[in-house]
Amino acid sequence: MTDSSLDIFEQYESNVRGYIRAFPVVFDSARGSTLTAADGREYLDFFAGAGVLNYGHNNPAFTRALIEYLERDGIIHGLDMATSAKKAFIEAFERIVLEPRGLDYKLQFTGPTGANAVEAALKVARQATGRSNVVAFTNAFHGLSLGGLAATGNRHYRDAAGVALDNVTRLPYDGYLGAGVDTLDLFERMLEDGGSGLDLPAAVIVEAVQGEGGINVASAPWLQRLRQITADRGILLILDEIQSGIGRTGSFFAFEESGIVPDLVAVSKSISGSGLPMSLVLIRPEVDVWKPGQHTGTFRGNNLAFISARVALEEYWGDGAFMAGVAAKSALLRTALDEIVAEHSDLGLTVRGRGLFMGLVCDSDPTLAGRVSAEAFRRGLVIETSGANDQVLKFLPALTITDDELSRGLQIVRESLAAVLAG
Ligand code: PLP
Repeated sequence: MTDSSLDIFEQYESNVRGYIRAFPVVFDSARGSTLTAADGREYLDFFAGAGVLNYGHNNPAFTRALIEYLERDGIIHGLDMATSAKKAFIEAFERIVLEPRGLDYKLQFTGPTGANAVEAALKVARQATGRSNVVAFTNAFHGLSLGGLAATGNRHYRDAAGVALDNVTRLPYDGYLGAGVDTLDLFERMLEDGGSGLDLPAAVIVEAVQGEGGINVASAPWLQRLRQITADRGILLILDEIQSGIGRTGSFFAFEESGIVPDLVAVSKSISGSGLPMSLVLIRPEVDVWKPGQHTGTFRGNNLAFISARVALEEYWGDGAFMAGVAAKSALLRTALDEIVAEHSDLGLTVRGRGLFMGLVCDSDPTLAGRVSAEAFRRGLVIETSGANDQVLKFLPALTITDDELSRGLQIVRESLAAVLAG
């Protein structure tokens, strides 16, 4: 068996494996936006670990800090005990993220995955209100543990639950019923009408931009209205910023553009910067009704993640330069995608998204995005699809990608599309 053989995975790993099927090589090393496979072949990365690697692979600033910490025998595992690494992260998060934005939140460090953060947010919202029902939206993705899965829309994932996915009412996301319909009219009407069958929810959980659901963007007025509707009725508003946060849409949080202040915010993926697992929930102090130790988790204290998370904040968020760079690259990406749409007007393609979180949507042929992704991979680009039918080619490069890399990747997409269309 060669280093690049996939036999061992096929033989021993569960049938559940997913990305290995879309990108069937053995990856060995990576730096910035380049992945190198065991056979030496290089791949440009427009996937960024599904939104975990906003600062690129093995960012040298983080690697250096992590090596120093390891070499001085810094605490690795700390449950939720006080450690100097965690203290420094909290101080940096307060100073660099929360204070400048006028945000006042308690931090809950949960188990390491995004789903852990979502579970904790749902649980504390239910406790704080004494209500069980939660409103979630069409095409939402909130993780695959049972609480998050109940709030997730996609049938493929829901079918795997094996139990009833209760206590969630599904409502249409912004734009779900077409451009002319404000879907919140339905929510407001249902809340007002005693015959609607909608129990007053504990919370509404929403992504400001839906990633897995197909890069659907909630407009600022829609989010503002949602905030108003919920605030007026004592319904807590949970923003799931797990994929859309940490600069992905052009600001630290995707909800910032709308100016709303959520009651709870779920944060994960790129927060550690380095790709190490880390998640937290931001909780408005009045909502922090947890009793000590009521929600635990062995891996709440990944101190290596705290180290790289702090360095990421200090390196990239001290001034506006990082987001100015993202805005420029976003414009480059948008222009190129608009050109592709114009070049193939017969396909009825559309572009959606914000920042470096964009989708090329092909509703008329839902297989097209998957075929382009596969062809692009053969040509050396890692790019995935999203949406209920995988009908969206999802552009999720590292925010640190260079203009040259972005242009090269876009050229591969162009050529792949042409090759697929040529049959
Ligand atoms: N919420 C959102 C918006 C996500 O995109 C994801 C993962 O893609 C999750 C929650 C779940 O995170 P995890 O896979 O780390 O449990």
